[in-house]
Amino acid sequence: MLLRALREELIYYGHQMLISGLTMHTGGNLSVRDPESGLIAIKPTSRPYDRLRPEDIPIIDIQGKLVEGQLRPSSEWPMHTLIYRTFPRADAVVHCHSPYALAAAAAGKEIPLINHEICMHCSSPVRVVPFEIPGTEALAESAIRGFGLDNNVTLLGNHGSIAYGATLWHAFDGVCAAEQAAQTLYLSMAFCNGGAPAPIPEEGRRALRACDPLQRPDDGKPPVIQAV
Ligand SMILES: [Zn+2]
Repeated sequence: MLLRALREELIYYGHQMLISGLTMHTGGNLSVRDPESGLIAIKPTSRPYDRLRPEDIPIIDIQGKLVEGQLRPSSEWPMHTLIYRTFPRADAVVHCHSPYALAAAAAGKEIPLINHEICMHCSSPVRVVPFEIPGTEALAESAIRGFGLDNNVTLLGNHGSIAYGATLWHAFDGVCAAEQAAQTLYLSMAFCNGGAPAPIPEEGRRALRACDPLQRPDDGKPPVIQAV
């Protein structure tokens, strides 16, 4: 079986999405790329997270071609593969429909950098890109524009959040940070009588962002290539 350890890690983080309340039923998806072979393990489409077994996880190549597995890959495979092609240091992608992040995405409300977790994934406020039909190239390209060259997390209009990272741990941390920041924004606006809470000062934001593994030029690769 190809990429057994990565398949098991993917199943673990799928469970974490479910029990953390970041998704329901079969919603969202995640993938992880093997840096050596370039092959990608991705959630199968329309399968509950708590029933997944390693043999259920499809393996695809960077163009989305099925390499191993009996089940169809997530319909969002074009978005996952485009992220890997665009950001060579990304080796994991997590996408979910978590409630506060989805609410912000439906409201078209970008999320300011108001807590330290989101500052580790973003240099600019978390952008919201316009709604596109799920599973399309248009959505994939829209997500790339949402990340830009400065953020690892973005919101997909009326849809949810997506993050990429160096590992599944890192990408999962990105969608957790987006959910927490959206929740913090919603609650702090009540304390501010509907006004906006203050972001973390720039010096703090820069120090936190420097903790992101994708920002460390420690493997000779540039942090990102030109986004499409
Ligand atoms: Zn989705």
